[in-house]
Amino acid sequence: MKCLVLLFLLSIGDTFLIRRNPKVIIIGAGPAGIAAASRLIQNNIDDVIILEAENRYGGRIYSTKIGEYWADLGAQWVHGNVGNIVYDMAWPLGLLSTSRGPGQPEDPPFIPKLYGSSGSSLPEDLTQSLFDYLDLITHNYSRLEDLRTGSFGEYVELRLTDWFGNHSEIGNDLRQSLMENVQLTMMSAEGADDWYKVSVFGPRDSPACPGFDEINWKEKAYSTVFDILIKRLPNPEEELPVLNNIFLNKKVSRVIYADEGSVKVATTDASEYSADHVIFTGSLGVLKADHSTIFDPPLPEGNRKAIEQIGMGVNAKILLYYENPWWKPRDYTLTSFFWTKEDREEIEKTPEKKWMLGIIDDNIVEYKPKLYLLWMSGPYAEQMELVPDEQLRRDILEFLQKFFGKRFNVTEPTRIVRSFWNTNPNFRGTYSYQTMQSIGEGPRRLGAPVMRRGIPVVQFAGEATDPRHFSNVHGAIASGWREADRLIDLYSGK
Ligand SMILES: Cc1cc2nc3c(=O)[nH]c(=O)nc-3n(C[C@H](O)[C@H](O)[C@H](O)COP(=O)(O)OP(=O)(O)OC[C@H]3O[C@@H](n4cnc5c(N)ncnc54)[C@H](O)[C@@H]3O)c2cc1C
Repeated sequence: MKCLVLLFLLSIGDTFLIRRNPKVIIIGAGPAGIAAASRLIQNNIDDVIILEAENRYGGRIYSTKIGEYWADLGAQWVHGNVGNIVYDMAWPLGLLSTSRGPGQPEDPPFIPKLYGSSGSSLPEDLTQSLFDYLDLITHNYSRLEDLRTGSFGEYVELRLTDWFGNHSEIGNDLRQSLMENVQLTMMSAEGADDWYKVSVFGPRDSPACPGFDEINWKEKAYSTVFDILIKRLPNPEEELPVLNNIFLNKKVSRVIYADEGSVKVATTDASEYSADHVIFTGSLGVLKADHSTIFDPPLPEGNRKAIEQIGMGVNAKILLYYENPWWKPRDYTLTSFFWTKEDREEIEKTPEKKWMLGIIDDNIVEYKPKLYLLWMSGPYAEQMELVPDEQLRRDILEFLQKFFGKRFNVTEPTRIVRSFWNTNPNFRGTYSYQTMQSIGEGPRRLGAPVMRRGIPVVQFAGEATDPRHFSNVHGAIASGWREADRLIDLYSGK
């Protein structure tokens, strides 16, 4: 392939390789787009612009001010410290921590609590046993040959039947409630709305890096990673000219690559651009909805199949800021919520309240003691985004009083900020997961560039294109660097 590229380039001008500074348009200013631009500019390919549909850069990294804190509506933690490029860049700068805040131990032990909607919690030994078992079966996969569909849901259900078999003290109703809790808990990592859609090999060949799973940015937030990518950190004098080349509110509606020699890009505000190469970094959700109208001619079959087959997850976050927190400092890391049969049936009678069934756990945000995070997964996450503000405020109070009211004097939050990842047409979901159809080659096929005479004209980057670390920021950044390197190699004649 490299030989073909060289031959073509040489045939259109002997000095092409050393002289030419190609024009590159990057679509999307999330981590993949900003990583690609930084890498190109640092390697002297500097005729680069980024067209971004939103009125901010950052993509699914969305750090926002709430009260006195910076907090994240999207990516929040660096997942894993072994082989994680974000960890490798940020840890030496002293920006990360594995503790929950000043005076808290590094690597706090993982102690969960399972609270029911009746206000009672599951006995601690039973909770720990359940979570330990889930940890075990999702790190040591066995009896895969017994699976009929090969789905993650089928696998966990099968193995949990063994666990319930050893816990005859758990009655049928509680068993059902716990099963629903486990499904949502597991899907909060995968993002899927249904665990029967996720391939058992997806989580098994886990995209997360080993080591600490929730490394935080202390008082800062995940957007700090952009300062590192553009080299504003550690030395502001070395900042690369990336931010000046981002054009906001530029939603790309067409990428026309039929003509030899250049790619034309049009935006919804009727602007037109042309370039030698386009790197598309919009989410898989955007590709699923819009690829057939954006790309002309249609994308090759391999890319189209991958777009269809890889799954796009649905999650949501609700951040609550309390001037006067009602909770006490905790000696446990996570509260996970389950609904009793009666309470679930009651909520189901009021369709507009059903979104609450998707709140799966909470988090008192590290280094931000007045900030309380509710995390949602499953099909109700999208419904939450449609709930009017006032109803949301009332429902949240009702939810918290239901689960905690017997032990705490739960009060109204001072501020509520929620995410809109699923209904925002520039994202259409949270992060990708592997289905039974996409497992194996899906991300690689999605990331395959469209070639013309051996030259990549339309390239794809973004978390969903990274075979190892899809769904994560570090996967998105790696994919941006990968596509930048493809061009750097091309123009350096490698
Ligand atoms: C709620 C949530 C929690 C998460 N938590 C974590 C976490 O803790 N740790 C972690 O590692 N990862 C986490 N992730 C995943 C992580 O945020 C993503 O993997 C990563 O941000 C993806 O980056 P990207 O560059 O591929 O895409 P994006 O960040 O989506 O960037 C793509 C950009 O393209 C723009 N765009 C889309 N369509 C167009 C168009 N037509 N024209 C112009 N621009 C367009 C979008 O507006 C966006 O800015 C989380 C994600 C969510 C949503």
